[in-house]
Amino acid sequence: MMFDRARQRMVEDQLMARGVSDPRVLHAMARVPRHEFVEEALRHRAYQECSLPIGYGQTISHPYTVALMTEALELEGHERVLEVGTGSGYQTAVLAALCANVFTVERLAPLAMRTRKLLDQQGLYNVALQIGDGTIGWKAEAPFDAIVVTAGGPELPRPLLSQLRRGGRLVAPVGDGESQSLVRLRVEASGIQEEVIADCRFVKLLGRFGFAQ
Ligand code: SAH
Repeated sequence: MMFDRARQRMVEDQLMARGVSDPRVLHAMARVPRHEFVEEALRHRAYQECSLPIGYGQTISHPYTVALMTEALELEGHERVLEVGTGSGYQTAVLAALCANVFTVERLAPLAMRTRKLLDQQGLYNVALQIGDGTIGWKAEAPFDAIVVTAGGPELPRPLLSQLRRGGRLVAPVGDGESQSLVRLRVEASGIQEEVIADCRFVKLLGRFGFAQ
């Protein structure tokens, strides 16, 4: 298949070449069919080093960004993971391959419904999707072992911190609308550890603990 080769090249040239080394992440990204998560007319660009429009003013993140964020979550397979900002569902599918359960929240109902259908078609039955404001988290399913936010907010949404288990990791872009820092936060017995992993640029996180709508 034409896409299989493109995907393998993506893993080698964009991920491994740039330092992504977690074998489970590389394996998952070599398998998840990224082209299925973009519209037909853009499929030929699905494995290129870029983000692509997915409708509703939103984008699917670069392959490298997805890899970097996923790797930073340090998943082993048993985790319950919260994703804020389902979008195309591509990051969701990568997470679903690497942990026990994914709980994903998308604020745009039409996008969420389209993606729900796609995730079902892909047979990803360990994904629960909710429509709503993900900056308040998903209280009924908390605590989570890992949380990833795929849209950039002015600060880390506070409710997410309280829904993270001891030892858990949270990865989120934080900054103004133009540019952000990708922040990883770890909850340890001794306190909260925070580090900046990279500079990045995501679409805006809107909502109660995000930017005003
Ligand atoms: N991981 C996705 C990224 C999509 S862009 C992908 O690769 O396709 C980020 C998404 O976050 C958009 O779909 C946007 O609608 C959504 N979003 C923004 N603010 C949100 C909020 N408060 N709660 C849930 N989703 C939100």
